[in-house]
Amino acid sequence: MAKDGKTLNLRIQPHHIMLRRRPKGMPKAYFDRIIGGGSRGGLLIWLSISLLFLAYAYAIFGLLYMYRAAAVPQYWVLVFIGLLVSSSLVLDVGKRRIASAFATELAASHGFVCLECGYSLVGSEDGGTCSECNAPINLGLIRTTWYEYFPATLDRCTAEARGDAG
Ligand SMILES: [Zn+2]
Repeated sequence: MAKDGKTLNLRIQPHHIMLRRRPKGMPKAYFDRIIGGGSRGGLLIWLSISLLFLAYAYAIFGLLYMYRAAAVPQYWVLVFIGLLVSSSLVLDVGKRRIASAFATELAASHGFVCLECGYSLVGSEDGGTCSECNAPINLGLIRTTWYEYFPATLDRCTAEARGDAG
């Protein structure tokens, strides 16, 4: 469970979020959660990107200052590093929160979640289309994709389902 979503999160770098450009092959449903906001994790991600922009602005300010005064105060580098480090830490916490919320949703739908929009497809048929976004439903692809990224969550689901049946 702890590692679930980690491979997805590792691939999402700040520039993907800033440019809203999804890493290649990443399910849109997941990336939309990262950039979509509207959750506590989303708020942390927004905060992290803001800190990063602040670090950039601070760097430019520092360079201009150096150009004029030839040297920056010693604390300048510390503040810059502090902004970078805190941005990265906050991003990490935000991504982990989103992964864990997503895992809960996947578990509730037994992994049957639209790859495009994240809508629960429980009750929909294989070969049909998502009632939310009209994406074609390929059950096999959906299962293997989510299983690749959230194996512990989906194994737990399967185990529970077996327990209920037996
Ligand atoms: Zn959909």
